Amino acid sequence: MTLDETTSQSLFERAKQVIPAGVNSPVRAFGSVGGTPPFLISASGALLTDADGNEYVDLVGSWGPMILGHANPRVVEAVQEAAGRGLSFGAPQAGEVTLVEELVRRVRPLQKVRLVNSGTEATMSALRVARAATGRDLVVKFAGCYHGHVDALLAEAGSGVATFGMPGSAGVTAGTARDTIVVPYGDREAVRALFAERGQEIAAVITEAAPANMGVVTPPEGFNAFLAETAHAAGALLITDEVLTGFRASSEGYYGIDGPAAGADGWAPDLMTFGKVIGGGLPVGAFGGRADLMDLLSPLGPVYQAGTLSGNPLATAAGLATFAGLDDAAYERLTSTSASLQSLVAEALTAAGVPHVVQTAGTLFSVFFREHPVTTYQDAKDQDTAAFGRFFHSMLEQGVYLPPSAFEAWFVSAAHDGDVLDRIASALPAAARAAA
Ligand code: PLP
Repeated sequence: MTLDETTSQSLFERAKQVIPAGVNSPVRAFGSVGGTPPFLISASGALLTDADGNEYVDLVGSWGPMILGHANPRVVEAVQEAAGRGLSFGAPQAGEVTLVEELVRRVRPLQKVRLVNSGTEATMSALRVARAATGRDLVVKFAGCYHGHVDALLAEAGSGVATFGMPGSAGVTAGTARDTIVVPYGDREAVRALFAERGQEIAAVITEAAPANMGVVTPPEGFNAFLAETAHAAGALLITDEVLTGFRASSEGYYGIDGPAAGADGWAPDLMTFGKVIGGGLPVGAFGGRADLMDLLSPLGPVYQAGTLSGNPLATAAGLATFAGLDDAAYERLTSTSASLQSLVAEALTAAGVPHVVQTAGTLFSVFFREHPVTTYQDAKDQDTAAFGRFFHSMLEQGVYLPPSAFEAWFVSAAHDGDVLDRIASALPAAARAAA
């Protein structure tokens, strides 16, 4: 094949020959917005550079991990230093202890934690523990919540499943699907009715601490506390998935915003899952919570779970260096950048007469192209995705890289400064007119 290897187009053509749709994760294919995805060659701070020499302001942040910005010097140095001491041991090492101590220090419900390699592994493992602890099979999830590509959790999932309008995934057995019950997000009555009918069969309720994979939906006041109470009354567990919200919403994740730390009603999840930020851009996930539950894991207990690369020294070094940069000042900067960006987007869309709603969960936010607030998956689907597509492409042409789907959160980093906001501000009016 004699394709010019220096362009995104030629790389995409080559990729499609050997990788399904040319990508290693579906939303990257630009399937819902159309066009050729830029193939990236480098990233620094808030900026990305593609194979064609274009520079973009990044509002994806690798879907969450790059909270300090790309190639943060402290993180890169920590990874380089760790690499010099060996890439993988498959044996205990100090970095994994320190990273887990950091997690346990920041997030009160975490008594014990295991590190894995992705958010998917974290939720899959947490479900296994919950089923073993309760001796029950059923899992309750919410429509529009995404928990990775775990068989049992793909029904009415958000993220790429929403982007491509899929009800679930082929290849999931009927038995597995039967063990998952999907409830509309935020619907207390539906949760109560389900528990009244089948409460004794339910192992766990799993929820995104704040949904951010159907776009961002702020949980109704007290909803997570209600879930904890309802699950516990039936002898079931609550798993809060903070893979996306963890350390994005606050230094404790979303839990720190509506949990006891925030002075609310004393609820706590039994198990939690993390990923993204805690690996600073390298593959890491974590699940943890009550020590009595986590001690069910092999070799202490009967629940098997393992990983060749789990607790990898490069990944733990990146995670620790990221946490070192996540001080109060970083959260202040993330909060004010996120707020400024939300206002800029809302102003531009308002000026162009484009119906929109901006919704937030801590520093996370998303923009729905519809008039009314989104509280359910159905609401999220009921938006003008074509308008989003036009907006997206105009921004891209003007050098701003947004998530290529109307169902995703936008991510800022501590490296997004005034200059970057100015660049976004100057692109917004034309993009808003394109969406109108
Ligand atoms: N849970 C949530 C809330 C997520 O947002 C994601 C990924 O976006 C996952 C789980 C899966 O994580 P990973 O893609 O690392 O497997």
